[in-house]
Amino acid sequence: MSALIVVDMQRDFMPGGALPVPDADAILPLVNQCIDLFSEVVASKDWHPKDHVSFAENHPGKKIGEEIVLGEISQILWPKHCVQGTLGSEYVEGLHHKKISAVFYKGTDSDIDSYSAFFDNARKRSTGLASYLESRGIKTLYFAGVALDYCVLYSVLDAIDLGFKVFVICDACKAINLHPQDEQHALEAMACKGVNLSNLREVSKLRL
Ligand SMILES: [Zn+2]
Repeated sequence: MSALIVVDMQRDFMPGGALPVPDADAILPLVNQCIDLFSEVVASKDWHPKDHVSFAENHPGKKIGEEIVLGEISQILWPKHCVQGTLGSEYVEGLHHKKISAVFYKGTDSDIDSYSAFFDNARKRSTGLASYLESRGIKTLYFAGVALDYCVLYSVLDAIDLGFKVFVICDACKAINLHPQDEQHALEAMACKGVNLSNLREVSKLRL
């Protein structure tokens, strides 16, 4: 059995939002087509308290884009985004979210970030996504959403480590590309781990 994981399709990650992924609105129709294909669809949401450690404004003297070290973990400082309960944290307008059967919230602790939909960046706390999927006998995962080079990448790598068979629907994902090669490096890292880099046309042919 397979499931589609829709990663962080939230207003703040769209053009005009607090932390925009360039052209992310262009994938909305494709993400919706993906949602319509699958019988099991779950989503992740970035869901931060307003004092979250990833926000540059919570570190006086630091700028957006700077990296700090927290314990042994490197943390990029982002603009304030996806604060719990704000408009920016809501699903993108027009997303076929009624088909989404469960939502998994990440980055909910003030003192640690979570790029992966499975675990925080220290891999200490689970979001519950893995046990949800396992309880339903789901062995194959398809990923769509943003950002390809952060939250999709880290979710996919964790999914592989957890033993899932993983497909990324690449044309239904967008990268933020803080550095110009980030998308390419993310794709290479996924391919090295045995991830199937696919597209909507190929996935549409499958019986899901
Ligand atoms: Zn975040």
